[in-house]
Amino acid sequence: AQERYTSIRDKPAQSLDGRVISLQMNAGLMADLPSLEGSGADGVGLFRTELQFLIRNQMPKRTELAQLYARVMDAAKEKKVIFRTLDIGSDKVLPYMTAEDEPNPALGWRAIRVALDRPGVMRMQLQALLRAAKGRPLSVMFPFVAQYDEYTAARAEMDKAIARERILGHPLPESLEIGAMLETPSLAFAPQRFFEEVDFLSIGGNDLKQFFFAADRENERVRRRYDTLNVSFLSFLEGIVNRCNRTKTPLSFCGEDAGRPIEALCLAAMGMRTLSMRPASIGPVKSLIRRSNLEEVHKVIVESRERGDQSVRPAVMDYLRGVT
Ligand code: PEP
Ligand code: MG
Repeated sequence: AQERYTSIRDKPAQSLDGRVISLQMNAGLMADLPSLEGSGADGVGLFRTELQFLIRNQMPKRTELAQLYARVMDAAKEKKVIFRTLDIGSDKVLPYMTAEDEPNPALGWRAIRVALDRPGVMRMQLQALLRAAKGRPLSVMFPFVAQYDEYTAARAEMDKAIARERILGHPLPESLEIGAMLETPSLAFAPQRFFEEVDFLSIGGNDLKQFFFAADRENERVRRRYDTLNVSFLSFLEGIVNRCNRTKTPLSFCGEDAGRPIEALCLAAMGMRTLSMRPASIGPVKSLIRRSNLEEVHKVIVESRERGDQSVRPAVMDYLRGVT
């Protein structure tokens, strides 16, 4: 299917009204990296580091991880890779870390919560990332941050890891950005200084949507029940975009919806400038953005909301049928 889009592979995702959207890819294994070139992605917006842990039956060693991360950066060449620290718990159970029997795993001891309670693994991982990056830029983000102090605590771990590397005389990354994933509604209402301090934010739409609508992303009965283009959800996303604009915090969106052309178009029209998706989605999303006027799409969204529609999808579809 990707062949269909080779003619636009090296062209920007620029809309008819001149807005350029950065399309990035999600990855998690070394085998994903060749897609970076094939898909024409601008970088890896989400590298899910837990996959490396999930495919083994014991904890990987720091040196192994450092080698792997270095190979990922080598393969990405000058393109940016955002490494997400270990996101386990909920749907991703690590057999060799104590599997806790929890009544509601999605709301339970997972991701950054585990990392802050048992910092050993995160420390090892941060050190591996620093060693892999030596002399190169490094971007790291923490998953499932629900409140400001979780970000500052995780960031303090990074500061400690850097101090240790410095004492050991190891080379440090050329530059460092540390972001957070916005996956719980609470973080959208964090204090202003959180938005000022964080280097970037990435919306984890899969989790954010499940918590916004209280609809389990793993449950077939409810997972498709609520439309991402529901006006309540869009208003909520708009609030996040506005807060990030005020503090000039770079914002991206990296859930599955970023790879669905109509959803991606609406997200871009609502002001998201970076979308990260599976590689195969880059072509279709880019193709639609290049054929669209985002200002007009935004107008269609605003009018649909003002009319009192539940979802803006029918209006956007109507509009697209008229112009494409
Ligand atoms: C998300 O929640 O949208 C996300 C990108 O992370 P994951 O799907 O790995 O939870
Ligand atoms: Mg998530």
